Amino acid sequence: MRLPWDTGEKIEWYDMRGLYYEFEWGATIDVWPTPAWCDQCQDFVNGEMIPSLQSLEDELAQLRDPTSARSRFYTDDEPPFDEPLYRARSKQLYANAINEAELRVDWRRDRAAPPKCLLCGSAKVTFPDETNATMMTGRGLVEVKMAGFCSAVFMNWFFTPEGDRIPRKTRPSYWHLPGEDP
Ligand SMILES: [Zn+2]
Repeated sequence: MRLPWDTGEKIEWYDMRGLYYEFEWGATIDVWPTPAWCDQCQDFVNGEMIPSLQSLEDELAQLRDPTSARSRFYTDDEPPFDEPLYRARSKQLYANAINEAELRVDWRRDRAAPPKCLLCGSAKVTFPDETNATMMTGRGLVEVKMAGFCSAVFMNWFFTPEGDRIPRKTRPSYWHLPGEDP
């Protein structure tokens, strides 16, 4: 039986790509978007995911340990990944991953503002339950359906570490699968 506030509505969520936090000195890390309801937009939107500092420190510690399961994605040199080309590429990706994880820990340590709506900047946002399956919105309870990656829009939007959009002329572009028309 459906509860009175359960709308039975299903919402497809497309995560926005190409969103970055930009530090004062110019370095950037990806913003992690997550489904949210924004009271100001009165709509289902992309909100900021702000993980706990502990979880980000754990991630960094795992990456710094080359024998961890997390790191073996980069350090595994079983054939065919023992070829010099693969090894050089993996080494670079591994260094990048550690660098990004370090920046993300720094960002989280300093972040003071609550999570915001990535469209309007309001902090009046609510998030789905832990399984990301349902969420309470201004319209009532809705079911959240994660949509595919290939339909994601690439925004090229920049935000301060506190989650405020940096005004800058950008043009969204789109991801395409190989062979698709641009
Ligand atoms: Zn909003």
